[in-house]
Amino acid sequence: MQTYARQPVSFTHGEGPWLWDTGGKRYLDALGGIAVCGLGHAHPAVTAALCEQASKLLHTSNLYGIEWQSRLADRLSALSGMDRVFFSNSGAEANETAIKIARLYGHARGINAPNIIVMQGSFHGRTMATLSATGNRKVQAGFEPLVQGFVRAPYNDLEAVRAIAANDPSVVAILVEPVQGEGGIVIPDADYLNGLREICDANDWLLMLDEIQTGMGRSGKWFAFQHNDITPDVMTLAKALGNGVPIGACLAHGAAAEVLTPGTHGSTFGGNPLACRAACAVVETLDQDGLVAKAAATGEFMQTALGQRLADLHGVREVRGMGMLLAIELDRPCGELVTQALQAGLLINVTAERVVRLLPPLIIAREQAETIVNTVADLIEAFLNTDN
Ligand SMILES: *Cc1c(COP(=O)(O)O)cnc(C)c1O
Repeated sequence: MQTYARQPVSFTHGEGPWLWDTGGKRYLDALGGIAVCGLGHAHPAVTAALCEQASKLLHTSNLYGIEWQSRLADRLSALSGMDRVFFSNSGAEANETAIKIARLYGHARGINAPNIIVMQGSFHGRTMATLSATGNRKVQAGFEPLVQGFVRAPYNDLEAVRAIAANDPSVVAILVEPVQGEGGIVIPDADYLNGLREICDANDWLLMLDEIQTGMGRSGKWFAFQHNDITPDVMTLAKALGNGVPIGACLAHGAAAEVLTPGTHGSTFGGNPLACRAACAVVETLDQDGLVAKAAATGEFMQTALGQRLADLHGVREVRGMGMLLAIELDRPCGELVTQALQAGLLINVTAERVVRLLPPLIIAREQAETIVNTVADLIEAFLNTDN
């Protein structure tokens, strides 16, 4: 079905940050399948894990123990400080799990119609509950009636959340992205998550972080909340977790980890041996190769270099970023830059109409980071000079 306005190109294979199209042309990938391919393409460790597991066992069922699922859960828990994990096949499903946890948690406290605070400009997925949670009318339009149970607040506004806390006893949780990804790499104040944590503690609410885009090292820490000195009650992951193998995860801590009990949730495919083995290889590689620290360093280099080239240009509103989540916000819609970059052999993305978004693989070398910076800066300069 025609759900995507596609670029006129198809790729046959990749290696590291490079992709080749059906005509043999090579591209540098500064999008990584939208924050999925943190290790780049055809990473040998992931390929080896997949091939070996495929020759042994693809799937049994969650009716039985799954060794690689347990290993992955242990690894993710140790890295994040969380206690339990539910595995799904996508980000939206991971968020559905979080929403179900919040609702059960509310009902257990005698709140029959529990509400979750969600933010303006957020993105949480395309299923009915997650599009209802999403703060973008374009995602929701035409799909009414929306799922109930969400209360909206402006992003990066603690006072607005405190005002809801004072007036609405039906709230049981906050669902929020540490950095808004689809919303345009919107980075809140440094103490925003700490403030939300305090409000949640004071009201017995669950703090639920959507780290589907920010997680697995992209922010320069394993998880973006680790830039703050907090632990969330719930955290969702997907995108980079399998480096392209579909897998999502909902992690929970403390009381939130005990909410789901046998029969309350499930998934046929979720956490199967193939996906979990691949994700274990991803975690292992990120760890062994020091890629989380590398993401912080490369991201800082790119943000500084982009700032030097672009920040003072008329038409550039802001250059910003956190690790390998990078954005150049312009003062006008700039979707055509995507096609121009493609012609120049570079994959980029424009989100929220005016924001050039870069989500390169964490593995890129300094030289490739420089190529991305120079190509993007040249394209934006030319675009701003010719656009009226
Ligand atoms: C991509 C994304 C989702 C949705 O993930 P899918 O795998 O496409 O369902 C949810 N939340 C955030 C923050 C995302 O970036």
